[in-house]
Amino acid sequence: MAMMEVSNPATGEVIEVLKTDSENEVLEKIRRGHAAQSDWKRLDAHEKSRLLKEWSRLVEDNKEALANIITSESGKPIRESIGEVAYAKSYIDWYAEEAKRIYGRTIPANSANKEILIAKQPVGLAIGIAPWNFPAAMITRKAAPALAAGCTFIAKPAEETPLTTVKLVELALEAGIPEDVFQYINGYGHEIGHLFTGSELVRKISFTGSTEVGKKLIQASANTVKHVSMELGGHAPLIVNADADLDFAVDQTLAAKFRNAGQTCICPNRVIVHESIEAAFTEKLREKVAALKMGNGLEADTDIGPVINEEGYNKIYNQIREAESKGATVVCGNAFDTDPEKQTYFIEPTVLSNVSEDMLIMQEETFGPVIPITTFNSIDRAIEIANGTPYGLAAYFFTNDYRLGKYLHENLEFGVIGWNDGAPSAAHAPFGGMKESGLGREGGIEGIEGYLETKYISIGNHIQK
Ligand code: NAD
Repeated sequence: MAMMEVSNPATGEVIEVLKTDSENEVLEKIRRGHAAQSDWKRLDAHEKSRLLKEWSRLVEDNKEALANIITSESGKPIRESIGEVAYAKSYIDWYAEEAKRIYGRTIPANSANKEILIAKQPVGLAIGIAPWNFPAAMITRKAAPALAAGCTFIAKPAEETPLTTVKLVELALEAGIPEDVFQYINGYGHEIGHLFTGSELVRKISFTGSTEVGKKLIQASANTVKHVSMELGGHAPLIVNADADLDFAVDQTLAAKFRNAGQTCICPNRVIVHESIEAAFTEKLREKVAALKMGNGLEADTDIGPVINEEGYNKIYNQIREAESKGATVVCGNAFDTDPEKQTYFIEPTVLSNVSEDMLIMQEETFGPVIPITTFNSIDRAIEIANGTPYGLAAYFFTNDYRLGKYLHENLEFGVIGWNDGAPSAAHAPFGGMKESGLGREGGIEGIEGYLETKYISIGNHIQK
């Protein structure tokens, strides 16, 4: 029997040892999820809605316990984990309502003796594969619309953070959602992923994670022509125009960047400021960044926790070193506190200036607490820098000039735009990426569409008189 250790990235302490599902157990869960599909699909929409609301109530009642689990296994500060539970719950609440609004339609036929109905039906068994950076929200953002649409659902959490999923599924079952309708699978993605993509019984894969793994899943899903939705990596630009309110832009940059120690797919990774305000912006930012407190997320005054693991740490470390070797200036930070024995990896929040587009930090997703600052002198140049990577998830800009803002949002190739807004994500809005950042949208009315098939029924109204 294979076991998996889950540890706290702030201390290295093993907090739980879980059994992983064997190949046969994975296949059995897929079979059971598929078998449960016909009853769940037929359950009336109001009853599905009621069950989701009950799940939401239990999540609310257990928010402290859930937040503690999130911080213990991911390292993020506890107040962020409390915020994540509320955010995760907002998806359940939104889709509990949407469950009752899956409308079909009738359309005029090309003959008086015909009627055409358009009906929506669940795609079938869906698997949701999640990353470690939002262990609660990335599960509910998939499970809630899937269940609301009438799909049965299997959650596959990241190996670093499975405990949040175990608790969320436990609460869903306590709420009355049937056991085989909502299951989870515990295991290493690269070992069991082929069982998901290879099964004809799995009709949809909803994945949030790296672009590299997303591409593999799209290719492997082609064999059985599954529905796929992909929320992949990002490399968000943040543009500050000369007319922006500087203090506001600095505060929003700080909040957007350092959430979860910069390990968020929509974290601004490339700050592009108008050259006339670079010095003032950088100084204001430096002051605030230098005041952030790094530490164990379970301590209430911690602003920045550790990065998740050695691989993440090495990537960030190399990006900073490479930028320095190519002439970047360290404005603040650039200190590292690691203990490879305990496997704890802390990186002090860092600001770099004098960066250029040929540096890795301006091209590759960073996933860490580092802000590189570069400058522009015309808005088209800012757009060129912003669009100059394969990613297209989120982009931010700060300006109070409406016409300029319109020009920017029309020309930035990103699925989510924050205009004078460093926190654009919400359950009622469609979230997702363009280019290599993804396919499909989660949240909003669009989020449920990915779990629905459209069926067209042509009825001949031949009436014998
Ligand atoms: P990852 O791609 O390494 O892993 C994500 C999940 O995929 C894990 O559950 C893992 O077990 C599983 N997995 C890995 N290989 C697999 C395979 N061959 N088949 C099936 N499953 C497999 O990503 P990560 O390091 O956990 O998360 C960080 C990444 O997630 C970043 O790139 C980040 O940008 C992205 N992310 C995107 C969004 C978004 O909404 N676009 C949100 C959060 C994170």
